Amino acid sequence: MSELRELYQEVILEHSKKPRNYRVLETANHKAEGFNPLCGDHFTVYLDVKDGAISDIGFQGSGCAISKASASMMTQTLKGKTTGEAEGIFSKFHDLVTGQAAGSGEDLGKLAVFAGVSEFPLRVKCATLAWHALRAALYGEEQAISTE
Ligand code: ZN
Repeated sequence: MSELRELYQEVILEHSKKPRNYRVLETANHKAEGFNPLCGDHFTVYLDVKDGAISDIGFQGSGCAISKASASMMTQTLKGKTTGEAEGIFSKFHDLVTGQAAGSGEDLGKLAVFAGVSEFPLRVKCATLAWHALRAALYGEEQAISTE
């Protein structure tokens, strides 16, 4: 199990150093900001939604390794998904990081690396920040969202 945990940490560090889809999306028709004052994580999520699906997605901002890696993997996972599928994945991811999931996140693919976050309640907000911003972007909330 500890080897698995090390592997997970490596994946998180790698994504935080080289975040995927880390860019302002010029074609975005939805965007939202998320802020986690407890840790200082601050990201903007950009979406290009066409025919009910996320045809492109990007993010920019700054934050701790967990928040950045989570945003990076979120963009990789959700590109091409419908908004309904994105909602379902967020719900499973939320259960995983808050320790409410039935399994260990196998059906979440790479996102399973965040299972260990459930042991650190303060880190849950880091891990879910970009996802909350994503929902705010999808549902057109104009104000920046805060985890507080
Ligand atoms: Zn953080």
